[in-house]
Amino acid sequence: MDYTDFSHEQLLERINELELLNGQLLMEREQDTKLEYGWTGNLGHWYWNVKTNSVTFNPLKITTLGYEKSEIPENVTYQFFTDKLHPEDYQKTMDVMMDHLYGKVNVYEVEYRIQTKDGDYKWYYDRGKITKYDEDGKPLFLAGIVFDITEKKRLQEELEYKNKILAEMSSIDGLTKISNHRTLVEYLTAGIADVGRVNSSLCIAIFDIDDFKQINDRNGHVYGDEVLIEIAAIIKNSIRSTDLAGRYGGEEFMVVFMNTELEIAATIAERIRKSIENTLFANGISVTISGGVKQYNGENVTDFIHEADKNLYEAKNAGKNLVISK
Ligand code: GH3
Ligand code: MG
Ligand code: MG
Repeated sequence: MDYTDFSHEQLLERINELELLNGQLLMEREQDTKLEYGWTGNLGHWYWNVKTNSVTFNPLKITTLGYEKSEIPENVTYQFFTDKLHPEDYQKTMDVMMDHLYGKVNVYEVEYRIQTKDGDYKWYYDRGKITKYDEDGKPLFLAGIVFDITEKKRLQEELEYKNKILAEMSSIDGLTKISNHRTLVEYLTAGIADVGRVNSSLCIAIFDIDDFKQINDRNGHVYGDEVLIEIAAIIKNSIRSTDLAGRYGGEEFMVVFMNTELEIAATIAERIRKSIENTLFANGISVTISGGVKQYNGENVTDFIHEADKNLYEAKNAGKNLVISK
């Protein structure tokens, strides 16, 4: 329509008319949303006039954040929403919008957290597109939809947390809370493959508690369990972060020493033996361990463990409370 001949009053009247129509359309849109979707309150439409920086939107977009309709300013700018973005999501959201405005991506699509009136955050999935350009080819108008995905995000986080616990449960020994047999063997297998590749050396130590049956018989199984927990902690606290300590079996432990020569592994294993010998366990009981240390020499995993085991049994036969490395 050509407005050049319109008087001031006629223009004002026309604006009023358009505002009324706009209000009516928005109201219907809101009704539509409520009628059509089971997930009422989950969806908001928005239209952004880039030139005047004014956003027209389905009030659901803002009432689901806890605001009353009366709290929404008359002219809502783009910043009215972006000011409420979670600090960690702000830059990402700006970048995505800029990329779309400058034609780098076809649609504006982003997930962000936005602050509710009471200070919490809700997750929104926002998707929009430039629908109109001005004569110079600059973006004039964008339209989009926004979903409240808070519940979906919460379920996703819960699932990730459960998966993490499951992964831990399958790799950690339930009693001693150090790595279990499976993790040890996996780590050792990967370590051995590395030795072949990077020409480094790798060692293992196998420890077995001396006369543990007697400890159980005299003090009870529960006491035996406490001893296992304490010994596991001592071993774990005696090694470097690149090494791995685990419970290999009932009262047997293993340490995998990455990039370590036999002499160093033997020194650490001996330190562990001594440390346990010097620990006074509950009820004033002393516990000792024996150990076998072996450097990897090209065998397969089973044979390598067997070689370390031979040293362990030599230590047992030699009178226990001893580490043999060779
Ligand atoms: P050695 O010095 O020759 O190793 O003698 P030992 O008594 O330690 O060896 P043996 O293999 O005869 O006994 C191992 C004991 O470890 C028997 C078993 O009941 C106990 N054991 C294994 N796992 C657990 C556990 O989880 N908790 C407790 N309390 N005892 C365990
Ligand atoms: Mg044993
Ligand atoms: Mg034993």
